[in-house]
Amino acid sequence: MAGDRENSIARPGPGTLFLVATPIGNLGDLSPRAREVLRDADLLLAEDTRHTSQLLHACGIGRPPGTLESLHEHNERDRAPRVIERLRAGTSVALASDAGTPLVSDPGAALVSAAAAAGIDIVAVPGPCAAIAALTLSALPSSRFAFEGFLPARAAARREALQQLAGEARTLVFYEAPHRLRESLDDMVAAFGAARPAAVAREITKKFETVYRGTLGSLAQQAAGDAGMTRGELVLVVQGAERAAAQAELDAERVLRPLLEELPVAQAAKLAAQITGRARRELYDLALKLRGPRV
Ligand code: SAM
Repeated sequence: MAGDRENSIARPGPGTLFLVATPIGNLGDLSPRAREVLRDADLLLAEDTRHTSQLLHACGIGRPPGTLESLHEHNERDRAPRVIERLRAGTSVALASDAGTPLVSDPGAALVSAAAAAGIDIVAVPGPCAAIAALTLSALPSSRFAFEGFLPARAAARREALQQLAGEARTLVFYEAPHRLRESLDDMVAAFGAARPAAVAREITKKFETVYRGTLGSLAQQAAGDAGMTRGELVLVVQGAERAAAQAELDAERVLRPLLEELPVAQAAKLAAQITGRARRELYDLALKLRGPRV
């Protein structure tokens, strides 16, 4: 029952790990519960202690000295066992990242996995998440979506990743660095087609929040001529492949799978191309994906 749970987490309990979401730009988005846990947990683990200290200060949250420690992608694995020991000894621990929800393109996964394996109680204190905010702002279908995080920075790897997503029917959500927006949009036009509906949500919850809605082609054009669009933090949301395209991918898979059991990849792709009328290169890539890595 909601009421029971409310009471049990009003104060951070002993030996519990709290995953605390923090604002992504607007301090007003720190929930009362997040505030309480950030204040009262015995130990606060922060991705960047300076950043979290500023948040605590700005929100008027005081903490005893020496109870704020760092946990980031470079020390998480080393630190996790010691944190688990402290949790086992009854210390309540809150984990916060620089902004938004911990673990979502942010540190925390190794600690949570170790805590779960150790039977520690884990409690989420949910709140802001740029991916979800952008999805809801995009005006694109939101009942099924795939969060892709950051695309690879290297062009070849990024194009490969996008190619693999070309047939995905769910709405796609990407985090992107502002200086890579143009390149990514151009690569998406090449992989998904210029007509695919998409949106760029920048500076969500901040003063200059702007949502650009259009197609990949129109957004790529706009990004090339509008410097403002490539400033600040942003999320890219792309509508999934049309049902027909998704169905075509499924059909191709259905043809390829039995061929791959009998034939090498190149031959299977060639035959599948003849049967389905699709490009041999595309089917070759799909065949490699279906076959998976060879050990
Ligand atoms: N854990 C965070 C969350 O829950 O959203 C995401 C952390 S990830 C390291 C940072 C990326 O999130 C940024 O590069 C940007 O793509 C996106 N992001 C964070 N805050 C944002 C905002 N206010 N507006 C738009 N995108 C934002």
